[in-house]
Amino acid sequence: MNLNKWLENVTSAAIVGHVNPDGDCVGSCLGLYNYLIENFKLEVDVYLEPFSEPLKFMSGSEKVQTEFAENKQYDLCFALDSGDENRIGAGKQCFKTAAKKICIDHHATNKGYGDENLICPEISSTAEVLTSLMENDKISKATAECLYTGIVHDTGVFQYSNVSPNTLRIAADLLEKKIDASSIISNTFVEKTYKQQRILGFALSNSVLFMDNKCIFSIIREADMERFGVNALDLEGIVAHLRDTSGVECAIFLYQTNAEEFKVSLRSKSIVDVGKVAAYYGGGGHARAAGCTLNGSARDMINNISRLVEAQLKEQG
Ligand code: 5GP
Ligand code: MN
Repeated sequence: MNLNKWLENVTSAAIVGHVNPDGDCVGSCLGLYNYLIENFKLEVDVYLEPFSEPLKFMSGSEKVQTEFAENKQYDLCFALDSGDENRIGAGKQCFKTAAKKICIDHHATNKGYGDENLICPEISSTAEVLTSLMENDKISKATAECLYTGIVHDTGVFQYSNVSPNTLRIAADLLEKKIDASSIISNTFVEKTYKQQRILGFALSNSVLFMDNKCIFSIIREADMERFGVNALDLEGIVAHLRDTSGVECAIFLYQTNAEEFKVSLRSKSIVDVGKVAAYYGGGGHARAAGCTLNGSARDMINNISRLVEAQLKEQG
């Protein structure tokens, strides 16, 4: 399977990704953007919500649009890395009005909301899915940088259980394009601003172990974000650090998005399917990484979520 069959008779294409775009989302959108403009006679636009500074090294990032002109209609729109249609950020309308809608994703909770759907829950990242749809000799260094960034971010630098032999083969093919992989990893994944480091330290030192130390949670409120001068993008990665605690199976991280609203991030090590937990609350994701947005008090959320986690732990013995 490759991208060509979708591009027949297409002269305009749009690419959209999910809200709060992460490395896989931006890398996938810009990887596909570069691949299309370099190899096909096409007008291509990318719509994404604002994303973090370090990801802006990717070619095409300066062309990304945050606002969609309602009167514009594309022959084709790709929704990438977005587990459901409501998760599409900027460009949601452009997806709805496109003559053909294609959804490419790797979230198990994705029910397939496009005219055509390629959903591969067993694959590490949307960037890996996309790379396998591309012809290797048509992948430029610029495209490879984007795709590699996507894979690095969703695998925690080839660390998580979603890494397969094929992930490494594909990453190796991208390395053949002479990209500076080490800089990509340190600049976009490892390095943090001082305020990011401080809020990470705050979240870790305020964390609470519970359920026989198998679970850990931490909550960041609006006032904390103001105090440290950070926004939602600065909080990425905190939940992964919580999970790194010895003996912990499941990490729950909440940050306040409104007076009575919290974004919930869930991570597990090897037993709990947090995708199921998040899906129960209207969110979604993967078995080891998932999320949702909830209304109410943070304490109630922790209680309710942990009941589902506990039930799964008991079931698994
Ligand atoms: P994070 O905790 O980093 O926000 O998200 C972890 C994973 O769950 C990502 O793959 C993300 O796309 C997915 N995810 C996070 N929040 C939601 C949500 O509200 N709905 C759905 N469907 N997926 C989510
Ligand atoms: Mn992804």
